[in-house]
Formats: sequence, C-alpha cells, structure tokens
Amino acid sequence: MTQTEVTEAHRFGFVTVVGKPNVGKSTLMNQLIGQKISITSHRAQTTRHRILGIRTDPHQQIVFVDTPGIHSVSKRANRRMINKVINRTAISSIEGVDVICFMITASGWTPEDEHALKALIQALGDRRVTVLLVINKLDKLKSVNELLPLMQASNEKYAFDEVIPVSALGRRKDHNLDRLLSVLTHYLPESPPGYDEDEITDRSFKFLVTELIREQLCRRLGDELPYATAVQLSQFVKEDQLYHINADIWVDKASHKAIVIGRGGESLKA
Ligand code: GDP
Ligand code: MG
Repeated sequence: MTQTEVTEAHRFGFVTVVGKPNVGKSTLMNQLIGQKISITSHRAQTTRHRILGIRTDPHQQIVFVDTPGIHSVSKRANRRMINKVINRTAISSIEGVDVICFMITASGWTPEDEHALKALIQALGDRRVTVLLVINKLDKLKSVNELLPLMQASNEKYAFDEVIPVSALGRRKDHNLDRLLSVLTHYLPESPPGYDEDEITDRSFKFLVTELIREQLCRRLGDELPYATAVQLSQFVKEDQLYHINADIWVDKASHKAIVIGRGGESLKA
C-alpha cells in the first residue's frame, strides 16, 4: 500500500427489503446480489432471520435477510388476515437488522402499501433502525417530474432516512442502483466481514435443498404452517448423477405434526 492510499473502514451488516407483493423486492435482491449470489448456511446465528444472499465487495459485506411478518398480504386477503399478519410482527421482530428498505412503486401509495408500512412501524416499536424508502419501477414513469409529489407524500407517511427512486431491473445507469448501494454502505456499521466467502459457497447446495423443501411446505400449507418449522437433512448421498436425500421436518409442538403430515399423509406425500 502506498501512503497516498486511504484505508477505508470495512463495513458489514444486515439489510432487509420489505413491502407488499409485486413491488419488485426479489428483483432488486437478485440485482444487488447478482453473480455474487450465495445461498448460505445457517452459520453464525447473529440473526434469527433467513439469509437470502450475501453481497461481498472489497470494502463491505451486505447480508440480505428475510423478516417474516413484516410483509403485507395480497389484495384478496381480508381484514382479519391483515390483522393476523400485523400481530405476528410483534413476535417476529426485526432484531439485528441494520437497514430496512421499504419498497413501493413509482405508481404511488396503495392501501396495501399502507398496511405494510403499518406492520413495519409496529414491528419497529421503539427501536431506531435506518429505514429507506425505495421507490421502484422508475422506468415506468413518463416523466421524473412525477416523482416529486410522490416523494413529498411519502415523507408525510413516515420519517424515512432517505428516499431513493430506482428501477430494480437496472438496465440503465440512471436506474440508480449504484446510488442505492452507496446509501446502504453509508448506513452499515463499521465491522469486519461476518462470513467467509469460501465457506458460504461450500454449504450452499445443502442449504438450498432445505430451502426448497421449506418452500414447498409454505406453498402447500400457507398460513397454516407453524411459524417455527425447520428442515434438517438426515441423508445426503450422491450416486452418479443422483442424489439420495432424506430430510426431517421439525415442528415446535406435537399438535403441529398433524398439520404438516395432513389427512392420511397427503400433505407430506405432496
Ligand atoms: P416481489 O413480489 O416484491 O418480490 O416482486 P418481484 O421482484 O417478483 O417483481 C414483480 C414484478 O415486477 C415482476 O414481473 C418484475 O419483473 C417486475 N419488476 C420488478 N422491478 C421492476 C422495475 O424496476 N421496472 C419494471 N418495469 N418492472 C419491474
Ligand atoms: Mg418476491
């Protein structure tokens, strides 16, 4: 290192993207993690959230996590379900998250966005966490002039630390993803990386398998699925091109077993 080089402090932290369905959360995540995608192991339980991916750059490491409970429900869902989701947030806190990106789209606030924000505010309680408003689908606007009133309206809804319009598709430079990334960096704590890159990729395949099983459980059981459910591989053997995989599904209470197994074992079989 030469004397003229400035040593930047390394930053490391946990980021979550929340908002109603279809605003573009997954698209943004894929875009930011991109080629650097690393589906990770559960190592270093510094967070009790599901790790969606890790972006490792020379000067920073961002862990994108899922915060179940602070996503809003779909349009069709009724009031009761919305309340249920909001209530669940009280339990599933956002502990350990450094930055929350709350996402809406450039077409403006909808009642579902408001519900999602309400759920987030409730989950935050008294905690002071950086909350950025990410206004996505910028490319759909006819003119950027339309943004100004939207940004003003947004500031009346919540004291967002910053408002950043982007297009998660990120096809063009003015889609602002670099700016979002540098804002994220700014709000992350100074800390060495929490994960070793090699280790992440070695364990990723097994982790992906458990996640695929969990995904099927969620699809099949939806809201009925007990919150505390875990999947653990008990056999993982590769024979030629074929994997022999056995997995155990763990539930919190004996009464939850019936839900996962289903009538005559039909859920489990499916
Ligand atoms: P999620 O439910 O919030 O995770 O939303 P998705 O990431 O699945 O995106 C929902 C839809 O919006 C998909 O069809 C995306 O291709 C689309 N989408 C996401 N970001 C953008 C964007 O910046 N511009 C446009 N035009 N479409 C987008
Ligand atoms: Mg998604």
